[in-house]
Amino acid sequence: MTHASRSLNLLIVGAGLGGLATGLALQTDGHKVTIIDAAPEFAEAGAGIRIPPNSSRLLMRWGVDLERMKKSTSQRYHFIRWKDGSTIFDLPFNNIVETHGAPYWLVHRADLHAALLDAALKAGVKVLTSKRVTSYDFEAPSATTHDGETFKADLIVGADGIKSICRPLLTGQPDVPRDTGDVAYRILIPGEKLLADPDLAHLIRDPCTTSWCGPDAHLVGYPIRNGEMYNIVVCATSYHETTDEIWVVKGDNSELCKRFASWEPQVQKLCALTGDFMKWRLCDLPNLTRWTHPSGKAVLLGDSCHPMLPYLAQGAAQAFEDAAVLRRVLAQDVDMAAALKQYEQIRMPRASLVQAKTREHQYILHVDDGQEQQDRDKKMALDAAENPV
Ligand code: FAD
Repeated sequence: MTHASRSLNLLIVGAGLGGLATGLALQTDGHKVTIIDAAPEFAEAGAGIRIPPNSSRLLMRWGVDLERMKKSTSQRYHFIRWKDGSTIFDLPFNNIVETHGAPYWLVHRADLHAALLDAALKAGVKVLTSKRVTSYDFEAPSATTHDGETFKADLIVGADGIKSICRPLLTGQPDVPRDTGDVAYRILIPGEKLLADPDLAHLIRDPCTTSWCGPDAHLVGYPIRNGEMYNIVVCATSYHETTDEIWVVKGDNSELCKRFASWEPQVQKLCALTGDFMKWRLCDLPNLTRWTHPSGKAVLLGDSCHPMLPYLAQGAAQAFEDAAVLRRVLAQDVDMAAALKQYEQIRMPRASLVQAKTREHQYILHVDDGQEQQDRDKKMALDAAENPV
């Protein structure tokens, strides 16, 4: 356990999962944290989120209320062929706490966000809404919001997400997030609907993560809130159905049923049970050359500096790792600029590697049926057998 040898006034811009986790970790360590967010109120996407062990371990360490998070624990990971529902691999998480030090949780994003907000407020973090930052001064650190208020700090943390305005100002390089060509459909189905169908009931009763893998698309499904809902993320080639300007559009159930009409019966049934849902254009960003401002008084964190495809359930997890490392480097008795350089040196290679792996998975998970797919499935099965969790 670290504890800061000095107390800094920190301003975090963005109260998403990354900003809140950072606020909580740093306030607990003796710093004084203010978080400002553009949104008038917090409304996390109506969707689930997976919390793998590198993420759950940190939430436990920071004392986040696990009851408040209404978590389910994934018992295994089941990978299935799109066409006939046959198993590619089935990996029980019997010893996940022994092998990875923490469990693999499944939660509603709103519950995770609320639990983090709650913990941050209890720790003494000041959280202000309706404060959209429009300009920064990174030398005499301050951020000015749309209503003309200026917030001064010893250190500014830009946690303002993939569309960050902090990022181009801090790096000095204008950038545009890259359209990956994939889209995500985020779907929630009431658990009782699955329980009423003998072919689907096991998906609620057995809290596991299931992936259906097929050409141009894969679906990841898991129960959340103790089976109250079944969450599905469909990740698929977009065929350019959203424009550059529009990132989120309403999904259409008939289009979903049509697209997956030839998939195995469970998928077809799940599509038929789907009500309203949203489609998200999936973007990422080429690797940045720096995350810290030369003044040594401002730094980026989370999706603002390493947005990634969601294929490894690591976006928020990497933001949490950022928070943990930032806390640790700031606890040292060294100059703040040197500490931030260390943060960048530790975090940049790791987050870049995970980003690269998610891009690899965009290809691996969506290959057409044939030899390459058969080789992939064999390799996945072998990896799962050789690396029990
Ligand atoms: P954000 O959540 O984007 O928060 C940024 C905040 O900054 C927002 O609240 C915004 O209002 C605020 N803001 C923006 N501009 C300004 C401004 N100018 N002034 C003030 N405030 C501002 N990750 C996982 O770990 N596991 C998963 O299972 C998983 N599944 C995913 C599934 C999908 C379909 C997608 C798209 C992502 C998934 N992720 C997952 C990734 C994860 O959601 C993100 O990586 C994470 O939410 C990023 O958090 P953040 O705080 O960095 O950014």
